[in-house]
Amino acid sequence: MRLENKIALVTGAASGIGNATVRRFVAEGARVIAVDLDRERTAEALADVENATVAAADVTRSAEVDLAFKAAEHLHGRVDVLVNAAGIPGTAADIEDITDADFARVVEVNLYGSFYALRAAARLMRRTGGGSIINISSVGALANFPLPAPYPASKAAVLGMTRATASLLAKDNIRVNAVAPGATDTPMLPQEPALRAAVVGLGVLGRAASAEEMANTVLFLASDEAAFFTGQTLSPNGGYVM
Ligand code: NAD
Repeated sequence: MRLENKIALVTGAASGIGNATVRRFVAEGARVIAVDLDRERTAEALADVENATVAAADVTRSAEVDLAFKAAEHLHGRVDVLVNAAGIPGTAADIEDITDADFARVVEVNLYGSFYALRAAARLMRRTGGGSIINISSVGALANFPLPAPYPASKAAVLGMTRATASLLAKDNIRVNAVAPGATDTPMLPQEPALRAAVVGLGVLGRAASAEEMANTVLFLASDEAAFFTGQTLSPNGGYVM
């Protein structure tokens, strides 16, 4: 059991990589606070999982994020692991047609949302002796990517935030790392066959990863096996970026 007695808070827990991470963490002995927008949908998505408590929060609203951490502290006294998996791809529109609101929304969810949870985690982890924070970025932050500017921009900013906060929080025994997934088979992957094939074909392995494969990398960074990792980006991307 690689997360025995650990308390984890996972955002984006109702679907995809966040959901697979909750399941993997619980299987490895953790108790998990599973956060997503809609309580009912999240509870349904985790109905068969024991040791996961559902909390509803929109990560773009810092007060809601803070409340989720308060609930975690009330229940378990601490949070040892935070996984920032909530995210949106944003519009696939041509650059000229991207509105101010389109750009702002992607940055609000992918960057501000990750920061709000990271800040709440840091406050609590500093008081309780440390922890491990994992931000889900994207291979789109590392390579040219067929999505318009807001998404890769927000995900590259997450990597900058990861390195800066890893440096600043090291003295508090808090490690901060990022996972930059390549194409992963979740509802976020384009469903239209030609576009899907183009995205999946970027990696030399020629297939999409499963959400469980991403959860394996998140688990490694969360666990004590990664005790010497901080400020790092691990990118399971099927050989798209080498
Ligand atoms: P997904 O759509 O299956 O899951 C994302 C979850 O985030 C959803 O359950 C959604 O409700 C939640 N969410 C969205 N906005 C939120 C908000 N404001 N507050 C709280 N929750 C919110 O997608 P996924 O593929 O599992 O994505 C997980 C992470 O992985 C995202 O950050 C995504 O950008 C990243 N990623 C995915 C891929 C891929 O190919 N699927 C590739 C690279 C990076």
